Amino acid sequence: MTANIAEFLRASAARHPDAAFVISGDRQYSWAEADRDVDAYAVGLAQRGLHPGDRVAMLLGNTYEFIVAYYAAARCGLVTVPLNPAYTAPEVAVLLADSDTRLLLVQPSTQTVGEDAAAALPGCEVISVVGSEWARTRRSGEGAGPPQLAIDGEGLALLLFTAGTSGRPKAAMLSHAALRANIDLLMSLTEPPAVVDSDVVLIVLPMFHVYGLNTALGMAVAAGATCVLSDRFDPVETLALIARERVTTVAGAPAMYQAWCRTPGVGQAMAGVRLLSSGGAPLPRRVFAEFAELTGKEIFEGYGMTETAPVIATTLVSGVPKAGSVGRPLPGLELRLVDESGGEVDEGDPGEVCVRGPSVFRGYWPDGAGGPDAEGWFRSGDVAYADEDGDLHLVDRRREVILVNGFNVYPREIELVIDAMDGVGEAAVVGVPDDATGEAVSALVVPLPGVTLTPEQIAEHCSTRLARFKRPATIRVVEALPHSATGKVAKGRLRDVYGDTGYGT
Ligand code: AMP
Repeated sequence: MTANIAEFLRASAARHPDAAFVISGDRQYSWAEADRDVDAYAVGLAQRGLHPGDRVAMLLGNTYEFIVAYYAAARCGLVTVPLNPAYTAPEVAVLLADSDTRLLLVQPSTQTVGEDAAAALPGCEVISVVGSEWARTRRSGEGAGPPQLAIDGEGLALLLFTAGTSGRPKAAMLSHAALRANIDLLMSLTEPPAVVDSDVVLIVLPMFHVYGLNTALGMAVAAGATCVLSDRFDPVETLALIARERVTTVAGAPAMYQAWCRTPGVGQAMAGVRLLSSGGAPLPRRVFAEFAELTGKEIFEGYGMTETAPVIATTLVSGVPKAGSVGRPLPGLELRLVDESGGEVDEGDPGEVCVRGPSVFRGYWPDGAGGPDAEGWFRSGDVAYADEDGDLHLVDRRREVILVNGFNVYPREIELVIDAMDGVGEAAVVGVPDDATGEAVSALVVPLPGVTLTPEQIAEHCSTRLARFKRPATIRVVEALPHSATGKVAKGRLRDVYGDTGYGT
């Protein structure tokens, strides 16, 4: 097998050509059918004058066409640039220009945005994957057999824009080798296995994000499992889908589990599911416990990032789910927790997570800036500590640490305290400038539906649980918080949403 990620699809198709690969609405596609489609589109794309290394962007939802386009691009050496289909034209235009994209694939719901975005970019063509031009691309490649192309494993497969939770998006460069390595490392875990060929995997996480793309889809393709696609998360509809299609594994994000906890029938719908995982943002202990009570199933939590393709650690490594922990590093990845000066912290102390290994990216587009250091270590920006079992607990993002009178306050610690209060749905804590203390702690709290909370009640709750310097100086009760694609609170956007004045009181 060459290093091309599309070889996973070829191998699974060879193993069981007629088995169901993708179920999307009332349509079903076999492995052989998808493999043929991928070949035809790969040749067709090459015949359109696209060359290995050229960028193909996609403004597509979780559809069969997304999967075919992604693997076709990989098979002929193109670099896929998945974009969030909810973006506006000005947002897309910046990313197309930044990635110097040659072809943008759209669907009916994103066609106008795509065309508007590409209007000022003469080198960028726009094609709808349900249109005649795309069908022609397939026809021109049909019957030509697989594209003849040797892919170097170090070749670039993906440019993934990572907004982080603040700042301007940068595109992480992920090679075929890095994507494959993360899949291989996860597949080496067997107790329980993350995915096997008899699994039916729910893919509702957006595939334009690395977690949906390489962990949910990539793993399912490598294992030869069936993928049930859902283009949007609706708690009631997805539970019905899980029951109807006999889903056995769910790759999820905390907000999904939180919503399912509030959906009647969750226990029954989940009865046939053998493995649930959560990642992308912290899974509140309360949600872990509530979900276990309602379904009898515990959620495996993982931690990763776009730059590491993505999984770094998961409770699947020990095989024992543990509330509040993201488990241990994947065997095959090295992990160190370091202090400000780069030295390893004492056992049990929090330090910045540094990772080294085959799934780490090579830097940001286009010149590889911001990648691993000369020894191969990448500083994640996340702060974690290891408990007595060696299981990791994420404390916070390094740049989100709040300095109150020179003392470190980890927003996450405060959020956990507020989250544990009855009636709290979600909390976000950020630092705001303060004349007296340098920075002060500010909390935004969303009550559970139907609950009324006052800032005074929250302050009272914090006063017996947190040292004075950690207590929020301002507390605001709000209806909702802005989220990223995987459900992380987008702290960079809090300022836009709630104004720039210390978030009120
Ligand atoms: P992204 O590149 O969009 O996947 O975001 C990666 C970031 O998400 C990491 O650097 C962490 O800050 C955060 N993250 C991912 N998984 C978890 C988790 N299980 N718990 C807390 N934060 C997480």
